[in-house]
Amino acid sequence: MSWRTAAQLRELGCGPESLGAHRAQRLRLYAGDAVAETALVEPGFGLSRHALDTALRAAAVAAGTKLEIDRARSVAPGCVSGSRREWRSDAIFLATGKHDVRGAMRPRKNRDPALGLRVRLPAGSPASTPVGDAIELHLFPGGYAGIVVQEGGSTNICLALRKSLLGSAASDPWRLLDMLAEDNPHFARRMEGADHDLPIDTIAAVPYGWIARSSEAGLYRLGDQAAVIPSLAGEGMSIALASAEDAVEAYLAGVEAPQYQARFAHRARRPVGIAEAIWHLAEHRRIAAPATRLAGAAPWLTRAAMRLSRI
Ligand SMILES: Cc1cc2nc3c(=O)[nH]c(=O)nc-3n(C[C@H](O)[C@H](O)[C@H](O)COP(=O)(O)OP(=O)(O)OC[C@H]3O[C@@H](n4cnc5c(N)ncnc54)[C@H](O)[C@@H]3O)c2cc1C
Repeated sequence: MSWRTAAQLRELGCGPESLGAHRAQRLRLYAGDAVAETALVEPGFGLSRHALDTALRAAAVAAGTKLEIDRARSVAPGCVSGSRREWRSDAIFLATGKHDVRGAMRPRKNRDPALGLRVRLPAGSPASTPVGDAIELHLFPGGYAGIVVQEGGSTNICLALRKSLLGSAASDPWRLLDMLAEDNPHFARRMEGADHDLPIDTIAAVPYGWIARSSEAGLYRLGDQAAVIPSLAGEGMSIALASAEDAVEAYLAGVEAPQYQARFAHRARRPVGIAEAIWHLAEHRRIAAPATRLAGAAPWLTRAAMRLSRI
């Protein structure tokens, strides 16, 4: 998580330090033979979703939130149809992340969309020492892998790749990681000795760059349902928290959902646009390697990109 996310969480009483998150001080970039390292603008943190979501849920309940769990099957104005029952309200805050719900689908235009993959190497695996206090981005043609150490010393490896790459690996995620390691020696070193029995989570068709410019009355879209920033920026959680805060403020002030959505779209445009441009450059090897060298030679430029891609 970025320094901005960390600050937002501290305000909610869930600061990353109190959750045992691993502190990251630098960004390390790899593209082919090119390597660059830059200090982060401010420290970022490695923390598992399990630890973060558990803490956020506990904080919400402690603040008086009534929590009921259901699976939303469809959304219509004023009503969510769940597996258990129907939920009616004049305001619905839609925060289903990557998953679309019938009645509130996001358009999918990209013929070769981004696919998310995640594997967690256990504490003590060979990758954790060389990654150390860095957030590493390994840039490949068609995507990247982000590597960070998390609480307890495990190493999180998250990839966003064009879906067609998985097809070229016979739809086998481990085969895809092995193929990437064959072509990228720095990534290969991080994957050394990784147990192929470890589970790999996959997220299909992430609509990077999508921004909800409007919404229906009573439907406030939050997080990835409001704006999907390319994940290499490490700002998705911050967008989720910022949109929730804006939506709640709007609702309490009597601002209708379409107005809130248009305002938030305006706020998200710069960070999402900058992150999208960087993502497109980073997935081309001929551009990624010289851009990485430039990032190493001009750290101020890298830090400017970090700042400009924050919400
Ligand atoms: C590969 C990859 C790497 C990333 N790396 C980073 C990073 O380093 N830093 C960062 O800040 N962001 C990162 N992101 C982005 C970040 O994960 C998202 O932007 C963020 O999780 C969005 O939060 P959200 O609350 O909108 O959705 P989510 O965190 O996806 O939460 C959605 C919730 O809704 C629930 N849900 C879904 N459908 C239903 C339904 N029908 N009924 C009931 N519940 C439902 C889900 O179970 C889940 O609990 C990454 C994303 C990807 C794909």
